[in-house]
Amino acid sequence: MDVAVQVPSPLVELHDERMTAAQVRLLLKRDDLIHPDLTGNKWRKLRDNLKAAKDVQASALLTFGGAYSNHIRAVAAAGQFTGIDTIGVIRGEEHLPLNPSLQYATDRGMRLTYLDRSTYRTKNEPAVIDRLREQFGDFYLIPEGGSNALALPGCAELVHEIDVDLDVICCACGTGGTLAGIATALDEGQTAIGVSALKGGDFLRHDIAELQRAAYGVSTDNWEIELGYHFGGFAKSTSELDAFIDDFQRRHSLRLEWVYVAKMMFGLFDLVAAGRFAPGTSIVAVITGPAFDG
Ligand SMILES: *Cc1c(COP(=O)(O)O)cnc(C)c1O
Repeated sequence: MDVAVQVPSPLVELHDERMTAAQVRLLLKRDDLIHPDLTGNKWRKLRDNLKAAKDVQASALLTFGGAYSNHIRAVAAAGQFTGIDTIGVIRGEEHLPLNPSLQYATDRGMRLTYLDRSTYRTKNEPAVIDRLREQFGDFYLIPEGGSNALALPGCAELVHEIDVDLDVICCACGTGGTLAGIATALDEGQTAIGVSALKGGDFLRHDIAELQRAAYGVSTDNWEIELGYHFGGFAKSTSELDAFIDDFQRRHSLRLEWVYVAKMMFGLFDLVAAGRFAPGTSIVAVITGPAFDG
């Protein structure tokens, strides 16, 4: 696809007294700067899916997401760039006027359709997919969040771009596809830590291993999930998290995306403060996407 993505994404050291106090080094992998529309890990996961869709000469891409999904936005943008039609299947009822995310998607030519919440839960079942094919014709299906076997190599690539010695790499988790790909690219002795942005993120342990097996035939045991930093659940926040975001912006002139990235960063700082990492540890935190709201 001939769209100018900034890959490798920048790797920048973060100078922060809390890291200095714990004698750990923190670098940010700025995937939020990859492209203004094909943002962050959504580009990483789409890369090989778009190639595959082109290879089979797909006339349309169909995917699933919530009404505020970054993945829906990225697929809509990718469709516009590649000239492939896009269909977004949105959880819940239609609300007009469209929210900014869905307006963004339709502005890029995406057709939207809606599934009530109980049907949405069964969206991967053949009966639901068949009905969508009757409605929209043939399409290349990309699962919710873009996480399938083809998503992992693009995420693995971000590790290969890193040219410093790292001990730990940390990212936020929604479906776990990003962490699954990252972990497959690590060397012996390196660990990936995923911070769940959802309450009840225990399913991630299963899903990440499944994704790795689907992509590479084996799963790796070099990753862990932190479940304690969801701040009330997916797309929920607290005044403590808001204050952390404001403070981080004041110190580092970077506004953290709040649904995923800020929870990851809060968790990482908390683990550092709790002495989880030995002095001398080098940590890379992946900024998986930009803040859309400030
Ligand atoms: C979608 C998203 C995630 C979650 O990635 P998964 O691969 O689904 O775990 C993390 N960060 C940002 C900014 C996202 O948009």
